[in-house]
Amino acid sequence: MASGEVKVATNLIGGVRTSPNRTLERVSPLDGVPVARLPRSEADEVDAAVRAARLAQPGWRRLGPVARAAVIRRAGELLATRREDLAAATRAETGKPLRDALGEVDAAVEQAHFMAGEGRRLYGRTMTSASVSKRVYSVRVPVGVAGLIVASNTPLPNYAWKTFPALVSGNAVVLKPSEDTPLSADLFGEILLEAGAGGGVFNIVHGLGPEAGQSLVAHPFVDVVSFTGGSEAGRRVAAVAGERLAKLCLELGGKNPLLVCEDADLEKAADAAVASAFSNSGQRCAAGSRLLVVDAVYERFRGLLVDRTARFRVSSSPDADAGPVVNERQMKTVLDAVQAAVDRGARVLVGGHRLTSPGEASGWFIAPTVLETDVGDPISRTELFGPVTVLHRVADFDDALAAANDSPFGLTAAVFTNDLNKAMVFTEEASAGMVVVNGPTFGSEPHMPFGGMRGSGNGMREPGTESLDVYCDWRVVSINVASNEAL
Ligand code: NDP
Repeated sequence: MASGEVKVATNLIGGVRTSPNRTLERVSPLDGVPVARLPRSEADEVDAAVRAARLAQPGWRRLGPVARAAVIRRAGELLATRREDLAAATRAETGKPLRDALGEVDAAVEQAHFMAGEGRRLYGRTMTSASVSKRVYSVRVPVGVAGLIVASNTPLPNYAWKTFPALVSGNAVVLKPSEDTPLSADLFGEILLEAGAGGGVFNIVHGLGPEAGQSLVAHPFVDVVSFTGGSEAGRRVAAVAGERLAKLCLELGGKNPLLVCEDADLEKAADAAVASAFSNSGQRCAAGSRLLVVDAVYERFRGLLVDRTARFRVSSSPDADAGPVVNERQMKTVLDAVQAAVDRGARVLVGGHRLTSPGEASGWFIAPTVLETDVGDPISRTELFGPVTVLHRVADFDDALAAANDSPFGLTAAVFTNDLNKAMVFTEEASAGMVVVNGPTFGSEPHMPFGGMRGSGNGMREPGTESLDVYCDWRVVSINVASNEAL
C-alpha cells in the first residue's frame, strides 16, 4: 500500500459490495495518519446481511462437505497467492512488523488447509440399540447462520479460525471484524468471494462493537454466535445471546502465568518470558503477563529478564521485534494501569512509558515494561493487552502454582523446570486450557483446540476438529428395519 493512501472498505452482503452513508476512519497506529474509511453499519445493514446468509445457507449445506471444502482449499490458495498484499494491509492497519504480518497470512493459509481436510472427516458414530431392528447413527448438521465477531490483534488468523470451520460445517457466515482492521477484512472477503463463497454464503458487516456487533448477536436469525474479544464485551455478548438462547462460543482474555523454578534453564526461561510478554506488543490472549519466580533464582532471573527486555526493539521499523498497540485508547488504558500500579507501590524495572523517539512519537508505542510487585496487586488479575508483564517473587513451586491458579482467568500457563515431577504436577494441576512445559505461554496450531476456563471463555474450543462442535449440531438417526433376529 502506498503511504498516504486512504483505502475504502465496504460491507459484503449477498455477494455484493455495499456501504451505508455513515462511515468511520481508521488511522495507522504507526503515526496517526488515516489509512482507511469503513462503513459504520447499524441494525439495518446487519439485518440485510443475516437475511442474505439465511437465504444462501440451504444451498450451501446441500453442496455437501467435500464440495464446501474445495471452496475453502481454494481460499487458502488465494490467501497464499496474495500473501504480500494481505501482509501490507495488516501492517497498514495494525503497524505490526512485516515478518509478523506475513506469518499471520501463513497461519490463515494453514488454517484453510486443515479445515478443508475436515470436509472429508465430518465423522459421526454408529450405535447399538436394545432393539435389534433399529439402526442408529449420529451425523453432524450445520447450525444455520453463524455470526462471527473477532478481535483486532491477529486479524487474518482470527477470521480464519472461525470462518473456515463455520463454512465447512455448512453454515452461512456474517463476519463483524474489529473496527481497527477493515483492510485485512476487506481483502479476506474478496478472496472468499473469488473462492466461491459468494451469493450470501460469506458476508461482512463493518462497524462498531456496541452497534453492528450487538445487532448481530441480538438478531433472531443468527443461530450460532462465536465471539473473540475481551471478557467485558464477552459478558455483554453472553447476556444478549442468552436472552434468546442462541448457541454461543466465547474466546476471551487471559492473564497467563509463567513459572520459573530453581532447577530451570534460566536463559531459556528469560527468552520465553520476553517472547510471551512482548511479541505482538503483548496483544495476545495468550501473552505471558504474570511471571512467578521462586525465591532461590529470583535475583538471577530478574537480571536476565531486565537485560533482554531492554534489548527488545519496539519501533515503527518493518524489521522491529514488535510495533505499536492497536489504538490510542488502548495505549492510554495500558499506561494508566501501569501508573495506578506504581501509585500502589509497584516498581518499574524497565519501560513504563510511551516511546517519544522521532519515528515513534506520533504513534501508539509503549516501551516493553516489567513491573515488580506483590502477587496480590490488582494488576496481577487484570488483562492489559499491551507490552507489560508483572514479576512476582514466590517462595517455591507450590506457592507459584497456587498463585497461578488464583486468577479470574484460565487460558494458558507455562512452567520452566527440569524436574519431571514438577512438570507433571504442573500439567495436572495448573488450571488452564493450555499448559506448557519449558516453552512460552502461546503457540497454538490449526489442529489444536484452543480456549480457556473461568473468565477466559465458556468451554468451547477453536480451532482444531473440536471447533466443529461450535458450528455443528448433532443429529441422531434411528432407522427401523424389518426385524431379522438372524442379523
Ligand atoms: P474487544 O472485546 O474490545 O473487541 C472484540 C470484538 O468485539 C471487536 O470486533 C469489537 O468491535 C466487538 N465488540 C465490542 N463490544 C461488543 C458488544 N457489546 N457486542 C458485540 N461485539 C462487541 O477486544 P479487542 O479487539 O481489544 O481484543 C482484545 C481481547 O480479545 C483481549 O481480551 C484478548 O485476550 C481477547 N482475545 C482472545 C482470544 C482467544 O482465543 N481467547 C484471541 C485473541 C484475542 P469493535 O472493536 O469494532 O468496536
